[in-house]
Amino acid sequence: MNIEEIKKEINQANYIVITTHKSPDGDAIGSSLGLYHYLKNRGKRAIVIVPDAFPDFLKWMSLSDDIVYFDKDQEIAENHVNQSDLIFSLDYNALSRIGELGKVIEESKANKMVIDHHQNPQEFANHYYVDTDCCSTAQLIYEFINELGDINSLTKDIAECLYCGIMTDTGSFRYPSTTAKTHQIIAHFLELGANGAKIHEHVYDTYSEHRLRLIGYALTQKMKVFPEYNAAYISLSQEELKQFNFQKGDTEGLVNYPLSINGIKFAALITEKEHDISLSLRSKDNFYVNEFANKHFQGGGHIYASGGKSDLSLVDTITKFEELLKEYKSKLV
Ligand code: 5GP
Ligand code: MN
Repeated sequence: MNIEEIKKEINQANYIVITTHKSPDGDAIGSSLGLYHYLKNRGKRAIVIVPDAFPDFLKWMSLSDDIVYFDKDQEIAENHVNQSDLIFSLDYNALSRIGELGKVIEESKANKMVIDHHQNPQEFANHYYVDTDCCSTAQLIYEFINELGDINSLTKDIAECLYCGIMTDTGSFRYPSTTAKTHQIIAHFLELGANGAKIHEHVYDTYSEHRLRLIGYALTQKMKVFPEYNAAYISLSQEELKQFNFQKGDTEGLVNYPLSINGIKFAALITEKEHDISLSLRSKDNFYVNEFANKHFQGGGHIYASGGKSDLSLVDTITKFEELLKEYKSKLV
């Protein structure tokens, strides 16, 4: 990244669009809104565009109501992109991760900057601020604002958005990607007035009764454990999800439960979506799920947290997954 050049581009930009990945999570929304606040406070015209909906438990973030949804308001979103002269791509490394919005971004003549912590970013931007060792894009936004020389312009609102991004992508500051620097940044956010306890409550203590019962059902009825492969998975069909009045975000974090069993180092959540099957993968101890997702399920992500999809039926996807466990036995045990 050439910091002087990007400084100039921000200074000269009349209209800035911030985009993030499909099914946005806490880091996607937190980093986008954090950057949005910062740019607006600088007097810039800016907008956040997301490909599709995000969970209600992220809607407490300041200015989240300003966000434009590409799937609902395609024309409005396209107008924003066409007016823009600078586009930020946050928390994704390839245009395929933003669905149909990708084409619009690709065709835009605006300057483009990627800020991300995923591996192997695709070449579609002029600037890249990428650190695959960094725990979250939210932390990178903090570091980027620091590089711009504006760390003293952080506000409580920015701090709370970025806090949420770091918190959700580090499993509340516990994954190995959490460093001393992460804690120093969090300390700075608290000094700025961010209410950490409240943010945890907003995200983790606002479940619906249905959501908690779905977790109970998934763990008691739908989890299969394979001690011989140090692996476990949960599968959920559309019918089962409907039975528990599924809302976006209800299965967030579910894949981590099997990984909490002593000895298990590979966990999957296999979910039947409306048009395909999605896989959410987690691992530890040098079993790299991004490679697994890329090779077998059209996906990718981080080494210990990845995702992918399958065009087979749910039953056939499960069979394929179980066959793969056999194949990977030597890497898993
Ligand atoms: P989750 O399991 O929480 O949906 O996703 C975990 C991580 O896997 C995400 O942060 C993202 O990096 C990655 N990921 C999820 N789905 C996909 C996918 O379909 N393709 C790619 N390349 N990465 C994905
Ligand atoms: Mn992230």
